Amino acid sequence: MEKLHFLTAGIPSIAKDYTNAFDVLNDLKLDGLEVEFVHGVRYGEKTREAILNRGDFLITHHGPYYINLNAKEQDKKEASIKRVLDTIRAANDLGAYSITYHAAFYLGESSETVTKKMIDCHKKIVEIANEENLKAWIRPETTGKKSQWGTLDEIIELSKNFDNVLPCIDFAHIHARQEGKFNTYDEFCYILEKLGKNLGEIALNNFHGHVAGIEYGSKGEKKHLIFEESDFNYKDLLKAMKKFNIKGALVCESPNIEIDTKILKDYYESL
Ligand SMILES: [Zn+2]
Repeated sequence: MEKLHFLTAGIPSIAKDYTNAFDVLNDLKLDGLEVEFVHGVRYGEKTREAILNRGDFLITHHGPYYINLNAKEQDKKEASIKRVLDTIRAANDLGAYSITYHAAFYLGESSETVTKKMIDCHKKIVEIANEENLKAWIRPETTGKKSQWGTLDEIIELSKNFDNVLPCIDFAHIHARQEGKFNTYDEFCYILEKLGKNLGEIALNNFHGHVAGIEYGSKGEKKHLIFEESDFNYKDLLKAMKKFNIKGALVCESPNIEIDTKILKDYYESL
């Protein structure tokens, strides 16, 4: 990637639907959007056409919420694998750069056990994606709740096994899960340095991350907030991203969608 792109999570709130979403992004001078397949990987022909005619805008995909690759029931696990694969297939169809999803819950098992199971499960996903010649980056997201598998260390460990798997770093989730830590320039640099050291320059030059204001408690993430109503230190995050010369996509998941995305991009460009 040649630069850091600023993406809205879903279509901007002032857009009608996908048919004018990219015109709105163009007016706002934003760089693209994350297509949210939260309730299933489905889209109509009109949406498909609008996305395919987006010009230079970058898109990423967020997979359905009903994914648990560590489900005890085999049918639920298989359905979760299919949802991840369908998200990658949609990326291939629509030209999305990268896809992300919340991979699994621990369900009482240890980090080591679930990480091992995730590696096995992703072997299957990657094998099928490669067979079908699907090109998008495959990215489990760093998760915000302590019940969810997906710390930065766990996802780095998983990613080391595959050429086309990298973490999607959700900075708000990491901050919420650690109950307020990871909110300073040094801590953001620590995350990015760790990413580069463990997975190489390719991870810094092909980045996919999420950011938002966030409310949290003893179990981690509660809900997303706008920056103004949260303690999230997006300014120091952007300074760290600039220092590491991060290239790729940063998706803003604040509830006011385009407003906070614009705040991010404007601040980044002022640095
Ligand atoms: Zn997410």
